Amino acid sequence: MEFIAFTYVGNFVDRRVIDEVVFNVFDEANRFFDEENLPLRFLYIGRLKLEPGYLINLTTAEGRIMVYPLEALVELLYSRLLREMEGQRGIRMNKIFALTTFPLVSRNRYFDFYEKFLGVHETLLGLRMMMLSMKPFEPEGLSRLLAAGKTGEDLDVDVKRQVKMKLHLFKDRLLKGVLHEVGHSFGLEHCHNQCVMNSPASMEEWDLRTPGYCDDCMAKLRTSLGDDAGG
Ligand SMILES: [Zn+2]
Ligand SMILES: [Zn+2]
Repeated sequence: MEFIAFTYVGNFVDRRVIDEVVFNVFDEANRFFDEENLPLRFLYIGRLKLEPGYLINLTTAEGRIMVYPLEALVELLYSRLLREMEGQRGIRMNKIFALTTFPLVSRNRYFDFYEKFLGVHETLLGLRMMMLSMKPFEPEGLSRLLAAGKTGEDLDVDVKRQVKMKLHLFKDRLLKGVLHEVGHSFGLEHCHNQCVMNSPASMEEWDLRTPGYCDDCMAKLRTSLGDDAGG
């Protein structure tokens, strides 16, 4: 069995997003690995705390947003994974996966501007750090509905149902995103089948994908996991 350390990074997130999106994605991914008989599991290592000093206030087309530089996050994840590996010597684990609630940005080395990313992989001394920004998967209107609920406004039954549906959609989209990045981490490339490795042109297209790998990708994933085990 191989493990991937799983964490989330971010501040100011509604508790329901953590419970019904982040933790459900974690649970359902593990259930998927189990049902597909893949010798792979996520291991939850707790939330990753950010040093506030690293946050950057960035002006974008969508207004001013708080972002976290990729380079700092990679360093943080690297040291966190090392620490976890020290404490869990009995298990096979050299990868860490972080869901981030804020956009991921990196200063372009050649031009002086920030680029935004959705999913990012970095390998450092044999360890793999994976980061996926949740923001692009968030259904429209969800944060407004959640904010309305927080201010104590009475939510009618219809609004509550909308929130529930949007949280569910958020979780579905993110689960596929997580499986996509996990696929990359085991050497899978993009494919053209009904498969999470088929990267979509739009979120509508993404919503039509079933959460799983096509036969080709699944076979490659099994081989890769088997190889990792040394035979
Ligand atoms: Zn991809
Ligand atoms: Zn595929």
